[in-house]
Amino acid sequence: LEEMRRVFVANVSHELRTPVTVLAGYIETLRGMESIGADELQKHLAVMQEQTARMQRLVDDLLTLSRLETTPPRHHEEIVDVPQMLAALHEQAEVLSGEARHRITLEADPGLKLRGSREELHSAFTNLIDNAVRYTPAGGSITLRWRAEGEGASFSVADTGEGIAPEHLPHLTERFYRADTARSRAAGGTGLGLSIVKHVLLRHDAHLDIQSRLGAGSTFTCVFPPHRVVRADADGRVATAS
Ligand code: ADP
Repeated sequence: LEEMRRVFVANVSHELRTPVTVLAGYIETLRGMESIGADELQKHLAVMQEQTARMQRLVDDLLTLSRLETTPPRHHEEIVDVPQMLAALHEQAEVLSGEARHRITLEADPGLKLRGSREELHSAFTNLIDNAVRYTPAGGSITLRWRAEGEGASFSVADTGEGIAPEHLPHLTERFYRADTARSRAAGGTGLGLSIVKHVLLRHDAHLDIQSRLGAGSTFTCVFPPHRVVRADADGRVATAS
């Protein structure tokens, strides 16, 4: 545990060092200048903003992870309307995709809900969808599926993106593990997204399944057990499997 803590602190420091160094450099340069044109100032400020955003994402993800580790799992259990949540996430994915114009489709079983934490599930599903958008080249396809799986249920995100080599697959949910560090940083990644997903799923008695082939895309599937699944009939009345 002590060794894990040391590695974690070293990783966090390493992740923060680059943006802090870049910011400090820009501030020093700006302070040393007698005058500066508006265009040049805007260019400098844009870089500073980008580095600040990077630190912000890192701190946000670290706080999310820390909350997942320190609050009791049964803290906020509710019946989560997954189809409704996914409809909103689908729209957000279209916005994030922007000019890359991915073909993003959602297939959701409208009566299928989950017992759990809305906030945590939202965070996990967002991470998986964001990854699909960020690691899929322009024009690719992304499919979001929410369906019954036997007595349980599964949420999957399938993309036609770059895929992941098999040697990386067992490590992807480790903190700060990236298959391609430069690619992840350029895409604004913190290296913490899939560890957040793993933690959230653990707290919902669920697990993450990853299928991927280099160059052929990836499918990330969250598999939920029957006792987490809540079915609503046409009138919205709910029934649980247990
Ligand atoms: P990051 O912030 O780097 O995206 P994650 O923990 O979300 O961190 O993912 C870990 C690594 O897994 C990424 O750096 C990337 O190499 C790989 N990865 C995750 N999702 C995908 C995907 N949909 N397609 C290809 N690679 C992916």
